[in-house]
Amino acid sequence: MEKMQFKAESQRLLDLMINSIYTHREIFLREIISNASDAIDKLAYTALTDDKVGISRDQFAITITRDEENRTLTVSDNGIGMSKEDMEENLGTIAKSGSLGFKQAMEKQEDIDIIGQFGVGFYSAFMVASSITVISRKYGEDKAWKWVSDGADGYTIEETEKDAPGTDIIMTLKADTEEDKYSEFLEEYEIRSLIRKYSDYIRYPIRMEVSKSRKKEDSPEDKPEYESYLEMETLNSMVPIWQRAKKDVSDEEYESFYREKFFDYNKPLRVIHSSAEGSVSFKALLYIPGKAPYDFYTKDFKRGLQLYSSGVMIMENCEDLLPEHFRFVRGIVDSQDLSLNISREMLQHNRQLTIIARNIEKKIKSELKNMLENDREKYEEFYAAFGRQLKYGTVSDYGAHKDACQDLLLFYSHKESKLVSLKEYVEAMPEGQEKIYFAPGENKDRLAKLPQVQTLEKKGYDVLLFTEDVDEFIPQTLMTYMEKQFCNISTEDLGLQTEEEKKEAEEKAEELKGFLTFVKESLGEQVKEVKLSQNLGNQPVCMTPDAGMSFEMEKYMKRMNPEFAYPVGRILELNADHEAVQAMQKAMTEDPLKAKDYAQLLCYQAQLMAELPLEDPFAYTELVCKLMK
Ligand code: ADP
Repeated sequence: MEKMQFKAESQRLLDLMINSIYTHREIFLREIISNASDAIDKLAYTALTDDKVGISRDQFAITITRDEENRTLTVSDNGIGMSKEDMEENLGTIAKSGSLGFKQAMEKQEDIDIIGQFGVGFYSAFMVASSITVISRKYGEDKAWKWVSDGADGYTIEETEKDAPGTDIIMTLKADTEEDKYSEFLEEYEIRSLIRKYSDYIRYPIRMEVSKSRKKEDSPEDKPEYESYLEMETLNSMVPIWQRAKKDVSDEEYESFYREKFFDYNKPLRVIHSSAEGSVSFKALLYIPGKAPYDFYTKDFKRGLQLYSSGVMIMENCEDLLPEHFRFVRGIVDSQDLSLNISREMLQHNRQLTIIARNIEKKIKSELKNMLENDREKYEEFYAAFGRQLKYGTVSDYGAHKDACQDLLLFYSHKESKLVSLKEYVEAMPEGQEKIYFAPGENKDRLAKLPQVQTLEKKGYDVLLFTEDVDEFIPQTLMTYMEKQFCNISTEDLGLQTEEEKKEAEEKAEELKGFLTFVKESLGEQVKEVKLSQNLGNQPVCMTPDAGMSFEMEKYMKRMNPEFAYPVGRILELNADHEAVQAMQKAMTEDPLKAKDYAQLLCYQAQLMAELPLEDPFAYTELVCKLMK
């Protein structure tokens, strides 16, 4: 028989796994059992609409058989089974997404439960087995198939016999060595405790023959003799964790269930276990993760909750249960009010589902708010991973979800040197401050040096530093927060001048009109306008964008799609009290050519401070050298 090779990537992963991860090898059993349970789920689901299945729900089971003599451990299920093609497809290659994540994780950290994290499940059995035989018959087919592999080398497939649909996974354990006692996985006690630890919640009975002892029938009462015998026993309690009362579930159980179910080795930050009665009854077990999965911000990431109806899983990723802005939440919803043989398409328009989804959204929001108010450190950990998602949520669909998101946002406060919520910002506003000031830019330190920031700082006003692409869209979407308007300090009037000061400024501008015109003419098309500003502190100049868009947004658009990018008009603001500006003014009458050079130099500097790239850095350098000579 021809020996098939594993697809190249699988081969490398297999080597990596077998050779580098010893610490968690016991999890192989959990992986094999989870696969068995999934396979039964699939047949149970088929049975809802197909009466030829011929198995009633209480006949589904997973059976473990120990054979000490042959050193084999067998896990059998009466689930959906695999065809020859299924075997080639599923056992001959590791899921693409799984393998990608696996490789990334290998590069980063070494001592973690990588297998559990990425569900390269079946292969984990090679950590303890020198050879694996899979015998399977798919439901609806007559032929059965036998797949055999002794590890990285490849596998064979041949036809075989099997009475009923289902799968047997037969693992021949590796020989024991000084350090590694693989035979422990044949011990009743060990298996029993592994099932308790990892697979207790599995909803089908996991059965195994266990030894018991009883009094020999003919032995005398006063001098009893005992004999041992074997009896089938169900090792798991089978009650799904979400069906149990909250007080009966330990943190550890919640955590291990999470890790195993959602392949995230990191601790979840919060667990929401809730039970709702009413027009629709349901139980929900939701988790707020602490880290974003590697593919979270890509289209590959699948949002959704697992949907169960009376203990049968009917959908793996039910998107309708979870709004996009909370897509980081993982979990399970179980409701007996959903009709079991509902089709997946019909579910989308299901009224009950909408009610559940609304309820869940509220729960998540209040949990996050609670974390924000009472466990700030944890919330900031959460925010580092998923804050961007909440920002997207705030601005998406023209702000339709802002009520769910806006209170959960954090921004960097210049005054406090830490993240603050909008509520905290508004509540800390001193008497007289009317607006929520923000400054968009790439870099916090540079933003802090903006003259406008310093002007506001002197008055005791805080400024939020917006350094993420999406930040600037938030004021545009919200318009106001707690009835306070937002003010972009680099484009808008800070609103600090009194009427008198305004009049004074106008007079000054009138007085210097000739000078301003000279500067504008010297710079030509480089700037749209030249004007005076009172907000420049000790800076001579600054560049501000024409109304409507900011420089950050201009850059953002350019990155997103250069075709739609168009430059925002540049306005050069001058500080008439600054010596450099006064020197330029003086040169205007004494040496106009020099004054022109000064204007150009200050224009370059304004661009640099605004984090705008210079179109011709060489011209700038030449000019500086020329003026120095
Ligand atoms: P995962 O379970 O994460 O998809 P595995 O490597 O554990 O990855 O399994 C690969 C695939 O092999 C499963 O998705 C399933 O299609 C198939 N499979 C594994 N075990 C069984 C089983 N006992 N019955 C039916 N199919 C199985």
